[in-house]
Amino acid sequence: MKQDHYDLIVVGTGFASTFFLKKYLAKVDQNKRVLVLERGHFYPHDERLKVKRGEPSEFENFEEPWEKAINNINAEKRWPFTTGLGGSSNCWWGCTPRFMPSDFKMKSLFGIEQDWPIDYDDLDPYYYEAENLMSISGPEGTPFPRTGKYPLPPHTFSVVDKILHKTYGNQYISQPTARASRDTKGRNSCMASSTCDTCPVNAKFTIENSNMGVYDDRRIELIYGAAVYSLEVMNDVARKINYIKDGKEYIASAEVIALGANPFFNTNILLNAGDKNQLTGKGFGEQLGMQVLIYLDNMSNVGGSTWVNANGYMLYDGAHRKDFAACLMEVSNAPYYIRLERGKWLNIASIRLLFEDLPQDSNYITTTADKLVPKVNFMGRSEYTLKGIENMKAKLPGILSCLPVEKLKYLDPFPNEGHIIGGTRMSSDSKSGVVDKHMIHHQYRNLFVLGAGAFTTYSASNPTLTLSAMSLFAADKMF
Ligand SMILES: Cc1cc2nc3c(=O)[nH]c(=O)nc-3n(C[C@H](O)[C@H](O)[C@H](O)COP(=O)(O)OP(=O)(O)OC[C@H]3O[C@@H](n4cnc5c(N)ncnc54)[C@H](O)[C@@H]3O)c2cc1C
Repeated sequence: MKQDHYDLIVVGTGFASTFFLKKYLAKVDQNKRVLVLERGHFYPHDERLKVKRGEPSEFENFEEPWEKAINNINAEKRWPFTTGLGGSSNCWWGCTPRFMPSDFKMKSLFGIEQDWPIDYDDLDPYYYEAENLMSISGPEGTPFPRTGKYPLPPHTFSVVDKILHKTYGNQYISQPTARASRDTKGRNSCMASSTCDTCPVNAKFTIENSNMGVYDDRRIELIYGAAVYSLEVMNDVARKINYIKDGKEYIASAEVIALGANPFFNTNILLNAGDKNQLTGKGFGEQLGMQVLIYLDNMSNVGGSTWVNANGYMLYDGAHRKDFAACLMEVSNAPYYIRLERGKWLNIASIRLLFEDLPQDSNYITTTADKLVPKVNFMGRSEYTLKGIENMKAKLPGILSCLPVEKLKYLDPFPNEGHIIGGTRMSSDSKSGVVDKHMIHHQYRNLFVLGAGAFTTYSASNPTLTLSAMSLFAADKMF
């Protein structure tokens, strides 16, 4: 190491860390020194593609199985994520709707859980900024407040999308997505191959293809293979960070520290550092996702230019959220949803239904004897979510009555959405949460805890655009 005291130390190189750094670097002097500690390595997209094609790659061993990185006590519930440069941007699928304004006000609107200490308007300028940085494709009219065009035009609708959009207007839109609808900034346009985890044409936004210039900045020193496990805290100030690289222990210190290692590892680091906040690690979870297949009578559902063509909001907002969960529809265009019946192959549509869940203390993260490995104790879903499924089943036939529906087939809920949320929730005081509105720890005032761990409630929408906007917001307000 060239030096061991820095202005800022950032843990991780995923969305949370990279968007935070982007804003920080734009705001501070050229003489600032920043250390970035990344537990994984740089595993380039080209090499990932080779492995996908079955070709050998010297990088293959860089992939750290998520199952080994955490102690997951509930085998039926999966928590996939990717480590290394860019974190899960390497495997995400690029769905980027904004949250609805109501998502930030669950208590005052519906009497559920808590309001966030920030609201939609606070994040609005940072949503635009994050959408520009990711070159999001999307439509002009949206159910959430947004004016003007997205950076790229919307993806095209399928036959079924066109009917639903005609019926529901801005409640049914082309999905805002980081899967490019046109060639842009070194990314190609999406080919709708539905293999987004490693996009064969490099159409989705990743940190690697982001052109954000963060890790080329000469103020940054990036150390790979550096797994952070704890902090040293004195007089409520986080002064040092402890990490292991190549089996050896290291310490570095900084004026400000930002954890962007995903909710499991952020929590593990805090608990190992002796964080006594009663809520640290509590109430983590994710949305529940399930698929419904819509068998169509004598109608071919063709067209559409990406994997999730559309989002439906018909089951999302409204007074029902007093009693049960919002549901976001992700209308799938994946080629594997076909009908194995002569003459009817394309007479099908399929929708992934995403239900919000609630933070429950019975779902919690703790430490283990291995200081790098958190224990993930997920006990189950809230009644609120399960009631949301029942409501959806009652309402969906009516919602789809504009289509020639032969029958609906519900598939079992998926074991994961890949959306790890909560564990360091945001609140206005330390009794009801772990971090404040700028994602600074309530007790350690020089420590940011970034990412979806800070979500006060979950929303039914995919988390990554919002957590990226929150990183921009936090760095903008604080530096
Ligand atoms: C298959 C899949 C599909 C998904 N699709 C979508 C989608 O369509 N839309 C959406 O909104 N979200 C999606 N997600 C979720 C999305 O990937 C996450 O919300 C997002 O990556 C979180 O960003 P992050 O920066 O907080 O964490 P991560 O992306 O997990 O990055 C964390 C970083 O920290 C590093 N790190 C971890 N622990 C340590 C440590 N102890 N020391 C040092 N470094 C550490 C990691 O290597 C990584 O670089 C998907 C996830 C998966 C798995």
